[in-house]
Amino acid sequence: MRPFVDLKAQQQRIRKELDRAICRVLDHGQYIMGPEVSLLEEKLASYVGVKHAVSCSSGTDALLMALMALGVGPGDAVFTTPFTFIATAEVIALAGATPVFVDIDPGTFNMDPNMLGPAIEAVRAGSSVLRPVGVIPVDLFGLPADYDAINATAKDNGLFVLEDAAQSFGAEYKGRKACSLAEVAAASFFPAKPLGCYGDGGAVFTDDDGLAEVLKSLRIHGHGDSLYDHVRIGVNGRMDTLQAAVLLCKLSIFPDEVEKRHAAAALYTQLLADCPQVLAPSTLESYSSVWAQYSIRVPERDALKKYLAAQGIPSAVYYPTPLHLQPAFSRRGYTRGDMPAAEKTAKEILSLPMHPYLTEEDIASVCQAVGDFYNNR
Ligand SMILES: *Cc1c(COP(=O)(O)O)cnc(C)c1O
Repeated sequence: MRPFVDLKAQQQRIRKELDRAICRVLDHGQYIMGPEVSLLEEKLASYVGVKHAVSCSSGTDALLMALMALGVGPGDAVFTTPFTFIATAEVIALAGATPVFVDIDPGTFNMDPNMLGPAIEAVRAGSSVLRPVGVIPVDLFGLPADYDAINATAKDNGLFVLEDAAQSFGAEYKGRKACSLAEVAAASFFPAKPLGCYGDGGAVFTDDDGLAEVLKSLRIHGHGDSLYDHVRIGVNGRMDTLQAAVLLCKLSIFPDEVEKRHAAAALYTQLLADCPQVLAPSTLESYSSVWAQYSIRVPERDALKKYLAAQGIPSAVYYPTPLHLQPAFSRRGYTRGDMPAAEKTAKEILSLPMHPYLTEEDIASVCQAVGDFYNNR
């Protein structure tokens, strides 16, 4: 069986271009903020269809810099989903603010937009020290959240929306690309994400000229008109020139890879339809997932995972513990039962191998093994 995410097959496809691109950087020697960085930013912005792409050192830093640019700090409540990678809520706390969790829709794994309004009301009613300021919806597994609903509720309440598009670069919602679905968005180019570099990388996307200026300053220690003039507290958040060069190569085959992901997901869904125990991920009209993960909900998840591993089939659990139950957030006082949909999903979720270089035989053998597991019970 091929690996869970096959980066080698992709590398073989573009190895010559990669070698040349990396050598060009070695030759010009501008390892920090070299010409590849601004070229990549132009291409990313044009792919997504927004005015500004500000590249940076990781998806986590993209989220953090966006919160810093929006002026988030102590006393601020930022609403997000408990069913995501830790980074989404971690940056809220790092910025000095308070994460408030809103349960998910178990069909999409994304924030339930109907629960956002009541959650905002509950903070307003229950706390004299917390001020609702923003929302970070996550496009989990590559499927955009419901931005029409979330943006509307946020606007009614005077809140900003920051799209966590770490898993959804390449996805679409109502004809618009992920990373353009809120006033500001953060993408990750971690190697296993739909578009990944060979190390850490990320980008912030926005149409707002002022926000883009602040983001560019923040990523280089809050610089002003000159590099040693510091007008705000920032971070060391730059993307390496070498990573930008790698991403430029990968971006050239990315639209084709997205097509291949769609085909792989469609075949999974078709073949798994024979297995009544498996709940396949929802495909919604006017949404186009980029299938960062193909995640099913199943009974006896851990036993199935073990069975697959014994057949040489890798699988993964994203995420075993919802964030409201993580020790890191224990001070927030959440308990089991507070986010029932996220808690139930965490027990049932299983991600199957997913990347553009899966063959039909690979997918058929995974589905066969899943079917065998339940038929032999
Ligand atoms: C990967 C990921 C991040 C963090 O991205 P890094 O590049 O690893 O820092 C943030 N949010 C979500 C939902 C992610 O999947």
